[in-house]
Amino acid sequence: MGKAPEEEHPVKALGWAATDPSGVLAPFKFSRRATGDEDVRFKILYCGICHSDLHFAKNEWGFSKYPLLPGHEITGVVTEVGSKVQKYKVGDRVGVGCLVGACHTCDNCENNVENYCPQQIQTYNSQNTDGTTTYGGYSDHMVANERYIVRIPDNLPLDAAAPLLCAGITTYSPLRYFGLDKPGMRVGVVGLGGLGHVAVKLAKAFGTIVTVISTSPSKKQEAIEVLGADSFLVSTNPEEMQAAMGTLDGIIDTVSAAHALAPLLFLLKNNGKIVMVGAPVKPLELPVFPLIIGRRMVAGSAIGGLEETQEMIDFAGKHNITPQIEVVPMDYVNTAMERLAKGDVKYRFVLDVANTLKAP
Ligand code: NAP
Ligand code: ZN
Ligand code: ZN
Repeated sequence: MGKAPEEEHPVKALGWAATDPSGVLAPFKFSRRATGDEDVRFKILYCGICHSDLHFAKNEWGFSKYPLLPGHEITGVVTEVGSKVQKYKVGDRVGVGCLVGACHTCDNCENNVENYCPQQIQTYNSQNTDGTTTYGGYSDHMVANERYIVRIPDNLPLDAAAPLLCAGITTYSPLRYFGLDKPGMRVGVVGLGGLGHVAVKLAKAFGTIVTVISTSPSKKQEAIEVLGADSFLVSTNPEEMQAAMGTLDGIIDTVSAAHALAPLLFLLKNNGKIVMVGAPVKPLELPVFPLIIGRRMVAGSAIGGLEETQEMIDFAGKHNITPQIEVVPMDYVNTAMERLAKGDVKYRFVLDVANTLKAP
């Protein structure tokens, strides 16, 4: 049996990859498949640096495969489309988030939550159906089935739109699914980083009343004046936390490291829910009394399906929601990772891929 044309004619690609758990990235040459019938190929202009990229580059979750080429907040412009592609044409402004494939037959896929498909193919550190490894957006171009391509609204700049493809959908989806999108509801956002600051903007656009819960008092003024939060609690300040007990309908917890849940659970009203989207390496301690006495709930949520991702970015376009970004050149990526590990970014690094990625 002959090979599919896309396997026979791989296209050269260039990116930055980590080769071991030091997580240090360096230029890396590889190839991507030729454009298949249902594929969209695009030149990558920008790629956000998600904290998951850092967890993966350093093998903090224990399932990284090297070489590992991160990046799942990818935007760019279409350069080629396959013969059966219906929705996109050359020149379109598009993006790819965390997923590039799934089984398309299971209940999850049929219900447009490919993000919960057991056979999902992630944008990097996964296996394509042909057995090759997926490589992410810290690279010059991307190719994906059109089902996994997102159209970027015309009014959103491609650099600031990039983080919406992970940080945006990861916070939008639980706000919607857990019913925390109703005007007047009181929503808490824990951790004001890449995910957290987008969560604040989305929750405000839904008309909710937003409280940021942060370890960084220095972020207070900006959270309120620039991001639009209604109030700000310093989680290490017991008086502030005490005064806010029982005030929130729900919380989106975006924290990337181990932290105490009890003080957060007590911020919830009875029947309130906390949704974990941050993915700390170590398990968190779960105190059950605050759950029992207030019928409170702890849940989790992973990114979102492709239909909802398009819905989210269209919503962001309509409400002019753009993440606060620091655009950096490709060869700054290791410094950016170090700064991200220290929480030294407001609030998302975005790599200026097209202008700064050069062959070594
Ligand atoms: P980030 O930009 O580094 O933000 C995380 C924030 O958490 C920090 O800005 C900080 O906010 C707070 N924080 C950090 N260390 C802390 C500690 N020890 N105790 C308490 N708070 C701490 O990261 P991100 O890109 O937003 O990602 C956050 C997490 O979500 C990561 O674990 C990432 O892997 C995960 N993630 C999950 C999904 C999903 O589908 N569920 C998708 C994307 C990312 P303050 O300074 O305000 O305290
Ligand atoms: Zn991410
Ligand atoms: Zn499936």
